[in-house]
Amino acid sequence: MKQSSPSVVVVGGGHAGLEAALAVARVGVPVTLVTLRRDRIGEMSCNPAVGGLGKGHLVREVDALGGAIGRLADAAGIQYRLLNRRKGPAVRGPRVQCDRALFRAAAQRLVDATPGLTVLEGEVADLVVEGGRIAGVRLADGATVPAAAVVLTTGTFLGGVVHIGAERFPAGRMGEAAASRLSDRLREAAFAIGRLKTGTPPRLDGRTIDTAALTPQPSDEDPVFLSFATQATQAAQVPCHITHTAPQTHVVIRAHLDQSALHAGGITGPGPRYCPSIEDKVERFADKESHQIFLEPEGLTTDLVYPNGISTSLPAAVQEVFVRSIPGLERAEIRQPGYAIEYDYVDPRSLQRTLEHREIGGLYFAGQINGTTGYEEAAAQGLLAGANAALSVLERPALSVDRATAYLGVLVDDLTSQGVTEPYRMFTSRAEYRLRLRIDNADRRLAPLGIGAGLVPPAMAADFEAKAAALAEIEERLDRISLTPQEAAALGLPLRGDGQRRSARTLLAQPDVTVARFAGIDPALGAVEPALAELIETEMRYGTYLERQTVEIERLAAEERQPLPRDLDYRALPGLSGELAAKLSRHRPETLAQARRIEGMTPAALIILLAAARPRRLRQQA
Ligand code: FAD
Repeated sequence: MKQSSPSVVVVGGGHAGLEAALAVARVGVPVTLVTLRRDRIGEMSCNPAVGGLGKGHLVREVDALGGAIGRLADAAGIQYRLLNRRKGPAVRGPRVQCDRALFRAAAQRLVDATPGLTVLEGEVADLVVEGGRIAGVRLADGATVPAAAVVLTTGTFLGGVVHIGAERFPAGRMGEAAASRLSDRLREAAFAIGRLKTGTPPRLDGRTIDTAALTPQPSDEDPVFLSFATQATQAAQVPCHITHTAPQTHVVIRAHLDQSALHAGGITGPGPRYCPSIEDKVERFADKESHQIFLEPEGLTTDLVYPNGISTSLPAAVQEVFVRSIPGLERAEIRQPGYAIEYDYVDPRSLQRTLEHREIGGLYFAGQINGTTGYEEAAAQGLLAGANAALSVLERPALSVDRATAYLGVLVDDLTSQGVTEPYRMFTSRAEYRLRLRIDNADRRLAPLGIGAGLVPPAMAADFEAKAAALAEIEERLDRISLTPQEAAALGLPLRGDGQRRSARTLLAQPDVTVARFAGIDPALGAVEPALAELIETEMRYGTYLERQTVEIERLAAEERQPLPRDLDYRALPGLSGELAAKLSRHRPETLAQARRIEGMTPAALIILLAAARPRRLRQQA
């Protein structure tokens, strides 16, 4: 093999691989994207929808770091919904139903237009490791591609097996071969590998659905876009329709549970608890008479419809019977049966928070291979792994994002410190600091980090800086205002007549006070762009809570910074249980905070670790 060149290889052209390759190129390192099929780059394996609760937050964060998924989703968006619109700003999640073909086409155009990014169609069969460091990849045809860093993003393809009832066959996803050579090699090389499963519903022919009797769900009139850069919808908007399972649907499913690959024991790996199959739902929620189904069009130029809510691995014939028991689907034709897929994942506890492998330098992992599920989770990890692979090649500091800064930080910290017991998906409930980690301020939280790492293109960085300056100016203008109760009453703000002056910040903490209310004092505040005004109102409304969180975050940051020696002999620490010592030796947490999140950790054990983490000099003085 030739000497390693200072370039990066990304294996896989799914959502993780795409973001990884684009991130490497943006940082300025040559990158080769090796993938099984060029024409499937950007393929949406399951539901053609992006965003949602927690996932929409991740997309906004990727966007703030210069990533692509938000822009691609907007380029293909055919139905927008802001989920939790009536709830607090922290838990609102933008979601968009995409035209599958438009998404893929936009992804491939972006790849073609990215300087420094080369696509190589092929199967990676092995990794080339020299002296404990990655040196490249070996293809199935025997050729090698040298690299200074490699990002593995093989999705559900490693050892993939599709199940439909009793039928099972190797596949990476429907219609595509599994990658078993690489899977075998990783097992032989003693990587920590487990099995997981996920499923998908049957695809229906929309022409055979009777929508007249169903409830339509139109796109939002004032869509909230996935990318900060998007100003308007880019494709025609179409409605989804809502239907429900009927009692007969449950009768049919119950009668055939023993034929479901999931229930008949055909699949051993755990599946996504939060995205259960219809068999799971019928069995687990036996007292529920009906389950909601969203009938989502797969695009503007296809008749395919995705029935969201009935993922299944029952035999195809049974799927047909239960589907036809659902109102509106009495005549529905199935174009592709639902199926479950079982695949290998690499235990993410074998990774550092940069997503680099702990043992093999220069080898990064991102996406479903790390035990996650979803395009958004994959994209976020892909961006981080790609950026860090490129930064490592340039010998620049790694990009590190903590839990208090982003859902991306929560995701990576959860994965690398706790591992997974089922496919991991993001929820707002996973974040401790939800009020800070909002969709409206993702750019404020992350763009400076992205600009520092060279991930944000200059035009986008300029937009961000202009927005930051505009926000600072509004805040300055507000900070100049303080009102007596009388002056406030003149603006329509009734206050207690105690003669006390109150700052605009204090007044904005009340729910019905807006920035525009102060236009009578400073006319410029009447002309503030609505999105900026809303952001400032949210920050001021929750100011007290946010300040309290800041104090807590500073305490956590101090703990985060407390490193644990890499060579710490946990078994030699008196007072630690054998079980915890074994877990700590296996996971080797990098910091005290990571150790804290290991399952089974106790306050007493943390005190022992804290003592062990103190510099030796201090320990001797104590
Ligand atoms: P993928 O998108 O799978 O991409 C993997 C890429 O790696 C492909 O381009 C492939 O060609 C390439 N590749 C693999 N092996 C090799 C090799 N050896 N050499 C070269 N290239 C290789 N997500 C949800 O959020 N909700 C769901 O309900 C859901 N259901 C799903 C159901 C099914 C059946 C499947 C398949 C996926 C489902 N997903 C779901 C998951 C979602 O599709 C994935 O999480 C997401 O696509 C993962 O992105 P990725 O980039 O990690 O992998």
